[in-house]
Amino acid sequence: MIGTDRYITLKRYVLGGCLDSGCFDVRERQIPRPKDGQVLLKALALSADPYMRSRMTGQDNFFLPQYQLGAPIESLGVARVVESRDPNYKEGDLVQGLVEWADYSVWNGRGKLDGGGVLLPLPSGITKISHALGVYGLNGLTALFGILHVARPKPGETLVLSGAAGGVGTIAGQIARIMGARVVGLAGSATKCALLVNQLGFAQALDYRSPTFQNDLETSVPNGADIYFDNVGGQLSQIVMWQMRRQARIIECGQISTYEDPSGGWQVDIRPIHAKGLRWESFTTAHFQELIPGAIAQLKVWVAAGKLSVLETEYHGLESAPRAIIGIMSGGNIGKTVVNLTADAA
Ligand code: NDP
Repeated sequence: MIGTDRYITLKRYVLGGCLDSGCFDVRERQIPRPKDGQVLLKALALSADPYMRSRMTGQDNFFLPQYQLGAPIESLGVARVVESRDPNYKEGDLVQGLVEWADYSVWNGRGKLDGGGVLLPLPSGITKISHALGVYGLNGLTALFGILHVARPKPGETLVLSGAAGGVGTIAGQIARIMGARVVGLAGSATKCALLVNQLGFAQALDYRSPTFQNDLETSVPNGADIYFDNVGGQLSQIVMWQMRRQARIIECGQISTYEDPSGGWQVDIRPIHAKGLRWESFTTAHFQELIPGAIAQLKVWVAAGKLSVLETEYHGLESAPRAIIGIMSGGNIGKTVVNLTADAA
């Protein structure tokens, strides 16, 4: 295929402070040509995720490499194979994996860690392409593994959840509810809190930006939370830790509130952990690779039964992708943030 291709690139690293649209550029190149063993992909939907912010600091202290300035940004995405020079893929196949923030990109081949990683077929029977990135992708899997395999709430336990209205949080809270926990969600606006209770069945939701938040939390969990599922870290999490019962457990999923700190973030004051004998456990979805097929099957059952609602914040068109990542960092999303690139993705 010959023609012009557009891609999104990062113009400068930002350590401390917020990303803005001036950090990104839309550039043009020739549509890349696949070599033997490679395939040419047309992107249909792109995932915007908080970890991407940690690849934009210019600091070499994250577990993934920094994005190269001037080169296409990459993320998880769904794509259609438009040209294949790998016998395992044929033109028209729908696949998911790491793709560039570009109309077209070349996948570099099976198992090449410096290139394409793994290119997988979409889960069968999904009703919307973007669900492969959200409820059946990184967010849903993180929520399921975090709740069922790490937090393991017992019926009647109180689970406090930060980042509750986000991609992971909306699903994690619902799974904890299904397991019989009393779920108290923390989110950044009254509108988000109302949605968590009325639409997702959380027992309670608190606006952490409210001046009465600390009192509201004390009233909500008078005997202290049994579990804190932490998606945000930082100051909010320090407040929650002081409001837990002795020997309660913290499940550390992410630290998004610190990703734009000048220090690079990821700092925790362990005084409440020490004082209350809290147990702290972290996890990543990569720790549960072999459980992914069963997890997707379980998520499908809950969605089909109407027990699990799927919420998305959708952007449209490649040029909107920077706004998607900026939106995540400023609380502009509810549920999974996805960028749809064609009407096929709807
Ligand atoms: P979200 O969809 O939750 O988007 C981010 C949300 O975080 C925003 O909407 C905002 O909601 C909230 N937020 C942003 N800044 C702050 C702040 N300063 N204080 C409190 N809340 C803030 O993202 P994901 O669901 O994709 O990810 C949630 C967390 O899980 C992240 O920390 C991410 O890094 C982590 N993660 C971990 C994985 C793992 O394997 N362990 C895998 C995937 C994600 P609000 O309006 O409520 O402020």
